[in-house]
Amino acid sequence: MSAPQAAAFPCPGCGAPLTVRAPGRSEAVACEFCGSVADAQDPAHKLLSRYTSAMTFTPLIGLGTRGVLRGEKWECIGFMRRAVRYYGVDYAWGEYLLHNPLKGFRWLTESDGHWMFYETLTEPPGKAPP
Ligand SMILES: [Zn+2]
Repeated sequence: MSAPQAAAFPCPGCGAPLTVRAPGRSEAVACEFCGSVADAQDPAHKLLSRYTSAMTFTPLIGLGTRGVLRGEKWECIGFMRRAVRYYGVDYAWGEYLLHNPLKGFRWLTESDGHWMFYETLTEPPGKAPP
């Protein structure tokens, strides 16, 4: 069985080419140009929502970038810029969603040049043996 290939379609907001990087598993695709969010699973790719402000941060790893990390091949298919305000100071970080058709999804987080690589658990961790 081969991995599904990325599928492309025009953005319903501006017509720019959008790519579904994990076909069958992606629910939505955001347009980097106009902020529209399109339904990745609907054959007509209907418009789900529109962000009013454009992204102002350039990700350190571009969407679609492929590389090897810890001996496995990964493709960066998503990015979020997040922040918290603590006693009036904003602390921001970036979270990159990585995908490998055989391994699933992992997160690569960057904060002030420090990187963390992790996998989301689908079950609570078990108790440590006595
Ligand atoms: Zn667009």
